[in-house]
Amino acid sequence: MNKKILSKKTVLIVDDEEFMRDFLSTVIKQVGIEDVLSVSGGQQALDIILSRSEPFDYVFCDLQMPEMDGIEVIRHLAAIDYSGGIVLFSGEDQRILETAHSIAEARGLNLMGSLTKPVSLESLYQLLANHQVAEKKSFWSAPEVSAEELRAALQAGDITVYYQPQIDIKSAAVKGVEALARWHHAEKGMIPPDIFIDLAEQHQLIDAVTESVIEQACRQGAIWSAQGRNFKVSINLSMDNLHSLDFPDRLAASVKTTGMDIKNLIFEITESRLVKDFSTCLDILTRLRLKGPELSIDDFGTGYASLEHIKRMPFSELKIDRAFVNGAHSNGTARAILESSIHLGKQLDMTIVAEGVETQKDWDLVAALGCDLVQGYYVARPMDAEHFNVWLEQR
Ligand code: C2E
Ligand code: CA
Ligand code: CA
Repeated sequence: MNKKILSKKTVLIVDDEEFMRDFLSTVIKQVGIEDVLSVSGGQQALDIILSRSEPFDYVFCDLQMPEMDGIEVIRHLAAIDYSGGIVLFSGEDQRILETAHSIAEARGLNLMGSLTKPVSLESLYQLLANHQVAEKKSFWSAPEVSAEELRAALQAGDITVYYQPQIDIKSAAVKGVEALARWHHAEKGMIPPDIFIDLAEQHQLIDAVTESVIEQACRQGAIWSAQGRNFKVSINLSMDNLHSLDFPDRLAASVKTTGMDIKNLIFEITESRLVKDFSTCLDILTRLRLKGPELSIDDFGTGYASLEHIKRMPFSELKIDRAFVNGAHSNGTARAILESSIHLGKQLDMTIVAEGVETQKDWDLVAALGCDLVQGYYVARPMDAEHFNVWLEQR
C-alpha cells in the first residue's frame, strides 16, 4: 500500500470512549495517515464536517454511542451528501453491521467496511488497502464528460436506448422491457447513465434526454406491437422532468407521434425522490396517470416511502431495488426488507418486480416469495434493439 497517498488523507474518529479514540488514533497514524481528528459523539462529528470546506477522506465511527448511535450518524452523513469513506467499528453482532451496510448502500454512501473491537493494526491495514484498489478502479471507469459534450451528443443522436427484458416468473414469458439510456462517446467509449443523467439534471438537459429516450423506445415499442409482441415498455423519469404542470400533455403528444399505444407504457420514478418532493409530484403524477400509462416505484426499499405516501399515489407497480434482491438468500437483512416490500406491494395490489436477479438462487427466492416479474443479468443484460431481437428469437 502506498504510504505517500495515505499520508495526505484526513480521518475523523467518532467514539464516546476516550481510550478508544486515543488507541484508534495511534493505530491509524501507524499506517501513515497524519491528519487524524477525534470527537466524542455524532453531533460534534457533523458540526466539524459541516464547518470544513474539504470532506474528511474517512470517518471511523463507533456503532454504540449514548447520544447518537452509528446508524443515526450514517443517516445524517447521507443527508449532508458526505462523499468520503465510512468505517464502522463495534463489538456488536454481525446482524447490526449488516443492517448498517444495507442502509449505507441504499443511501449511496461509501461504507468501506467494519472493524471489530479490539481493532488490530493488521485489520485496519487490510481495509485501507482494499479501499485503495476499489478507489483506483472507480477512478478509471468514470470518464469526465461535460454538459457541452452531452448537448452535442443529444444533437448527434449518440444517446441511444438499450432494452432489458422483464419476465413473468410463472410462465417465463417476456412481459415487458425496461428502456435504459446509453451514451456511446466517440473517444471516451460508453458513458454510464448514472454519470450523464446526473449531468443532465444539473444542466437542464434532462428533458431533452427523457424526450429522446421516450421517442426511441416508443418507436421500438410500436414495432414490437406490430409484430404481435405485446410488451409493456418501462421508461425512467427523473423528478426534474416533473417540474411543469403541462408535462403530462407534452408527453402524451410526443408518444402519439410514434404510433405507440400509451397504455403500454410504464413510467418509473425512484422512491427516494418521491419522498423528497411528495406534494409537488402528486398532482403531476395523477394527471400523467390519467393519460393512460402505468406508474412504477423504482428502487423500492432505498427511499423510506411510508405506506401513506404510496397509498396516495397512483402507482400500480413496485420495483424492489437490487440491493435487497441480489444475494438476499444469504443476507438476513436484505431478505427481511425484500419480504416486507413484497408483502406491502401485495397488500396494495401492485405488480411486484424484482430487479438485479443475477443467479438461480436469487430467482428461486423471489419466486418463492411471490414476485410477479423478474429483471436481471440472470435473464439477460440490457441490449440494443437488434441484439434484443436476436435474443428473443433464440429463446
Ligand atoms: P435503474 O432504473 O435501477 O436501472 C436498472 C439498472 O440495473 C440498469 O443500470 C441495469 O443495467 C442494471 N441491472 C440490470 N440487471 C442487473 C443485475 O442483475 N445486476 C446488476 N448489478 N445490475 C443490473 P444502468 O443501465 O447502468 O442504469 C443505471 C441507472 O441510470 C438506472 O437505474 C436509472 O436510474 C438511470 N437511467 C438509465 N436510463 C435512464 C433514462 O432514460 N432516464 C433517467 N431519468 N434515468 C435513467
Ligand atoms: Ca428503472
Ligand atoms: Ca431500479
